[in-house]
Amino acid sequence: MTEQTIALVTGANKGIGYEIAAGLGALGWSVGIGARDQERRESAVAKLRAAGVDAFGVPLDVTDDASVADAARLIEERAGRLDVLVNNAGTTGNAPQMPTTVDVATVRTAVETNVIGVIRVTNAMLPLLRRSSSPRIVNMSSTVGSLTRQTTPGAEVGPTSVAYSPSKTFLNAVTVQYAKELSDTNILINLGCPGYCATDLNGFRGVRTAQQGAAIAIRLASLPDDGPTGHFFDDAGEVPW
Ligand code: NAP
Repeated sequence: MTEQTIALVTGANKGIGYEIAAGLGALGWSVGIGARDQERRESAVAKLRAAGVDAFGVPLDVTDDASVADAARLIEERAGRLDVLVNNAGTTGNAPQMPTTVDVATVRTAVETNVIGVIRVTNAMLPLLRRSSSPRIVNMSSTVGSLTRQTTPGAEVGPTSVAYSPSKTFLNAVTVQYAKELSDTNILINLGCPGYCATDLNGFRGVRTAQQGAAIAIRLASLPDDGPTGHFFDDAGEVPW
């Protein structure tokens, strides 16, 4: 009998993260619902369990060292290893984001959550991922982080933002460095862009559903052992850096 795959999705209480958890659960995986708010976390776990997902709650604020360490301990005690980590939690850092007038706290919030949070969670989970036979890390990015797209006249990259878009560019660069260091291991780490999805992040203005946005993460979470690493994908294929 093959062992049940153990996954952790950060920011899984709503939006795309919730749908990633539902999709991984539908594969028969055991899915940790990483979420910082107890009520929102418990309600997501209850809803997923009612839908047949083997979901369990993982208290997790990606900006907090102690919270992340506790989350790693919880997974170690529950499963002894982690097969798949989806770094999905993210924030725009709030508006407005015009470079010349921004409050630097907005930039700090976006970087702290979208970049440093990913590094913090990944490094805390790596000892558990190294115990897996096919470890996968998926970092949820955005095509707004593509400098090629940002500098291509007429490309659709959303409003000017000095916090959110650059935080995803930073995340992309960080992911490349992880892929380089981990290239002689069996850990595959890739970036996924969900497309413009209707969620709280954008006041539900997105044109895709959160479920559609989750598809790329589910694909990258279940890559075969000879799959790519250090790449950036959306549903249409490779996204230019
Ligand atoms: P969302 O509905 O706003 O959900 C964001 C999730 O991240 C929530 O669960 C939120 O938890 C969590 N989160 C934020 N800060 C956190 C922290 N410090 N610790 C733990 N969890 C935290 O947004 P979404 O649209 O689903 O976005 C999911 C990911 O996709 C993000 O990385 C986003 O940048 C990316 N993305 C989204 C779009 C889009 O069009 N929606 C496009 C490209 C990329 P709370 O409920 O506690 O706030």
